[in-house]
Amino acid sequence: MTYAAGRHFLQIPGPTNVPDVVLRAMSAATIDHRGPEFQELGKQLLNDIKPVFGTTNPVVIYPATGTGAWEAALTNTLSPGDTVLSFETGHFATLWQEMARGLGLHVDFVPGDWRHGANPEVVAEKLAADTAHRIKAVCVVHNETSTGVTSRIPEIRAAIDSAGHPALLLVDTISSLGSIDYRHDEWGVDVTVAGSQKGLMLPPGMSFNAISDKALNAAKTACLPKVFWDWGPMLTANERGFFPYTPSTNLMYGLREALRLLYEEGLENVFARHARHAAATRAAVRGWGLEVLCQDEREHSGALTAVLVPEGIDADKVRAVILDRFDMSLGAGLGKLAGKIFRIGHLGAFNDLTLAGTLAGVQMGLTLAGVPADPRGLQDALEHLQND
Ligand SMILES: *Cc1c(COP(=O)(O)O)cnc(C)c1O
Repeated sequence: MTYAAGRHFLQIPGPTNVPDVVLRAMSAATIDHRGPEFQELGKQLLNDIKPVFGTTNPVVIYPATGTGAWEAALTNTLSPGDTVLSFETGHFATLWQEMARGLGLHVDFVPGDWRHGANPEVVAEKLAADTAHRIKAVCVVHNETSTGVTSRIPEIRAAIDSAGHPALLLVDTISSLGSIDYRHDEWGVDVTVAGSQKGLMLPPGMSFNAISDKALNAAKTACLPKVFWDWGPMLTANERGFFPYTPSTNLMYGLREALRLLYEEGLENVFARHARHAAATRAAVRGWGLEVLCQDEREHSGALTAVLVPEGIDADKVRAVILDRFDMSLGAGLGKLAGKIFRIGHLGAFNDLTLAGTLAGVQMGLTLAGVPADPRGLQDALEHLQND
């Protein structure tokens, strides 16, 4: 590898680009996590993290990636042999239900085509049919990062309510929190799972559970084994700003700074910025004459766009050409989409010209890789940015 001048374009849908101010904040000296200075930081963060989830309830912070927070959501609320309802929206939904099975839960996994979100009508049907209330939780991935499809959580909540069913609602927002509109309290979510390295603009290594009163109550009788993930000791220590084991102190410095950036811009503006960049990206894809993977206008992701490459072309070859020639990383097709799509991440620390550069690199790379792409695509995106 020869030296690549300028900044690498990290346009995968997570980990995302970490702003310089966040990196600088993280370079401060690590402090005693049982001392008074940390206690102030802990108290402040455990409080300041709440608005980004749209909650006034407790949010716990784990020194772990998102996968750990998935496990925490399941083990704190459920018991061996419980049934959960989940939806095959893509790779991450598939992994989460595999984890649930591995933990000793039964999973009713509704098949999907990886081009749509979880279907609220099916939620209503499944729950109405479950008169014995065997289903204890409905698990939904809000933004399916492998497909660029965002499930409609308020409609899923309404479906659960219309069936009059007591199941908990567990939602993975690992790639939507801080980039797509999300409201834990207002939407009646019981556990919201999130991670540091996507919309929150931090490096990997920290994850979250926002917890409703109903979930706190379920935790009292849930008996799946848990030790590291146990909310009990965590919430007790958190009351005083502390943690039951060593927290990711330097990531917490970064989180303080990242939250400051998000709240300074205003969450509404953050969501609008992402939606606008997503719309401009779709304009480019359609202008190139290619197809966006998501098939429902109501479910386009604000955080990333998955692009189908024409039959007979290896999407990974397109990505390799773009990395080699333009020093830009794009997301690969995961699971059954391997080689069929590439994913453009447009979330986190991101602006109009980052998008323009990203789309220019994609357009040139498509052409170099032998994919017929109408150069009209980039022009359409620029017009969208210029006029909207
Ligand atoms: C990234 C991601 C995960 C996995 O998180 P890790 O931090 O890699 O453990 C799970 N779900 C979704 C929706 C994701 O985007």
